[in-house]
Amino acid sequence: MFTHKNDILLTPIEYLKGVGPHRGEVLRKELEIHTFGDLLTHYPFRYMDRSSFVKVNSIPEDGAYVQIIGKITFSEIVGTGRGRRLVATFKDETGMLELVWFQGISWMEKVVANGGLFLVYGKAVRFNGYWSMTHPDMDKLESLSLDQFPNFQPVYSSTEKLKAKSLAGRNYVKLVQTLFSQLSQKDIIENLPSDIITQHQLMPRYEAFVQIHFPSDQILLQKAVHRLKFEELFVHQIGICKLKLNQKFIHGYRFTKVGDIFNQFYSTYLPFELTDDQKTVLREIRQDTQTGAQMNRLLQGDVGSGKTIVALLCMLLTIDNGFQACMMAPTEILAQQHYVGIKELLKDMPIHIEYLTGNIKGKARKEVLKQLANGDIQILIGTHALIEDPVVFNNLGLSIIDEQHRFGVAQRAKLWKKNALPPHVLVMTATPIPRTLAMTSYGDLDVSVIKNLPPGRKPISTIHRNEIHRAKVMDFIRHEIDQGRQAYIVYPLIQESEKMDYENLTAGYEQVKQFFHAHTYNICMVHGKMPQDEKEQNMNAFIKGNAHIMVATTVIEVGVNVPNASVMLIESAERFGLSQLHQLRGRVGRGADKSYCILLTSSKITSNGKERMMTMVNETSGFAIAEKDLELRGPGEIDGTRQSGALDLHIADIVKDVNLMELTRNVAITLLKQDPDLMMDSNRNLKEFLLTRKDKEVWSRIS
Ligand code: ADP
Ligand code: MG
Repeated sequence: MFTHKNDILLTPIEYLKGVGPHRGEVLRKELEIHTFGDLLTHYPFRYMDRSSFVKVNSIPEDGAYVQIIGKITFSEIVGTGRGRRLVATFKDETGMLELVWFQGISWMEKVVANGGLFLVYGKAVRFNGYWSMTHPDMDKLESLSLDQFPNFQPVYSSTEKLKAKSLAGRNYVKLVQTLFSQLSQKDIIENLPSDIITQHQLMPRYEAFVQIHFPSDQILLQKAVHRLKFEELFVHQIGICKLKLNQKFIHGYRFTKVGDIFNQFYSTYLPFELTDDQKTVLREIRQDTQTGAQMNRLLQGDVGSGKTIVALLCMLLTIDNGFQACMMAPTEILAQQHYVGIKELLKDMPIHIEYLTGNIKGKARKEVLKQLANGDIQILIGTHALIEDPVVFNNLGLSIIDEQHRFGVAQRAKLWKKNALPPHVLVMTATPIPRTLAMTSYGDLDVSVIKNLPPGRKPISTIHRNEIHRAKVMDFIRHEIDQGRQAYIVYPLIQESEKMDYENLTAGYEQVKQFFHAHTYNICMVHGKMPQDEKEQNMNAFIKGNAHIMVATTVIEVGVNVPNASVMLIESAERFGLSQLHQLRGRVGRGADKSYCILLTSSKITSNGKERMMTMVNETSGFAIAEKDLELRGPGEIDGTRQSGALDLHIADIVKDVNLMELTRNVAITLLKQDPDLMMDSNRNLKEFLLTRKDKEVWSRIS
């Protein structure tokens, strides 16, 4: 009964009455319409509102589309060459409108030659004191009565070739009408389970297709669009969630207990009370690691929200259960900082913790590798060097990746192969991933969130200034330094032109030195191309409070913690992404003092640039900023979107329809929990549908 259901929609388009082989070829090439089904899902991009009429004397000035009934009283061809055009005089009882055609002149000339009553539709503009309309949509009224016009007439995207083959405008609409005359309700089978239709008040599928092409009114049109978006997002989420549920069956180590090490640290050495969010995340991780399946969890928490301590507690839990743990950071400086910080926290506990990066060589490296392989080392901290092949663990139970966005999926996968069973994976990111992406690119990870910062943080004032105010800004920084504070000055680093970035940085450094008379203020510089020891030396000077100002590239973007720093000045701030600006801003506001983030831009900033700066000034939540970034830059610019398949959406919009995506995700999860392989009768049509889709491999691979 199901096998034939879509046959008619799979019919090659040339078999539709009025198409044939030649026009079929054009439809295939121009619009990728191969079948009846493709024609059905090629939706109008707008509608002509034919529900109301205006008089010539009440045409609105705003250039909206209008519909007018009147008489053509005169027509002639004027001009030559490119200026050759057909001009007709159109009148109603209130005034006169000029109609103009530059194309299809000979055909139109015949239509208007004898004058008569017409319905015209188009955009009127004022021209030399009277109204004029170019290439209006025309209907002669003797042959048609008014109620023959649908209220909303669909308009489809078109091309020159389609026009040349009479496959545009009205002619195209006729094809769609022909298609519907051959289809009946049973050809367009409802693919969503009826419970879902009822619960979410969705328009039935057949009706939605009819209404999106030929809407009866605005409300039904909206319902149709909603239904089709729902279907699209739901089907998309069913695929992702199925993948995620399958992962639950990847075996992982079972951490059965919370032991002495964890408990001793928690009760004796934990320097502060955990926030509620931190406790919740710990509970989630504890639960994950008891199930017998591998944990794949993403921990999102704004800059400074306290992810490190959560990571540390998880590592202690791992050790309690007899396994090793490792933690990777994207840069040496950050790895070093984690190592030093964690070593300090654990200094009174009998835990063997080591550090490994690409720069640890020779004997020292050999020793680390040896102790790692025999299980002596319990915690290893480092850069991605620690997932390279020669690094062999004895029994790696947990790996933590700090700052996810610098680690590719391939690197994550490498980790899984470190043991017979894959270690649990906790990915931490301070670049909040917009909700949409969390549901698409990272949709296979479980997500934990630390929403609130630890208590006692002072809000950071963010200020946007341009070049002209540089001197004042510098004075302000000097004032802060004289109060005993420290400041960062950051220059953009754009990899395509490292040389130029470097020049900007050094020029800036010289300028800052001049301003602050190097003899009374200490200024240090850090950038990625600097030799490692020099970099560390300079960084340490700032961390220890020996330097007042640090001039840097985005090297300092992640992780660096200097509570005494109260000013972050960002040069050419318009060249940074919003999330990056937010990261940089998070370097200050870590101590007890009021902190400032100053965004310095050129005075010739674009309006988009201005809006971005205002977002930073007004928004403090990294999540809100990430959402705005997505909206302003578009999904293609944000890491990970391209692979997510979210850009293949046909009718739904990854940014605008995020709420609907979230809803459909929940609906998909509920459904799959109830019926993982869609075996229930009520889900049979859905399964059939998934299996007949063009991208059916997705479903058949995972089911
Ligand atoms: P991030 O999430 O950006 O990695 P960190 O883990 O570096 O943040 O934490 C930022 C700062 O907040 C650190 O100095 C840390 O000691 C402190 N911190 C973390 N959790 C708490 C807490 N519950 N109460 C007080 N301070 C905390
Ligand atoms: Mg951190």
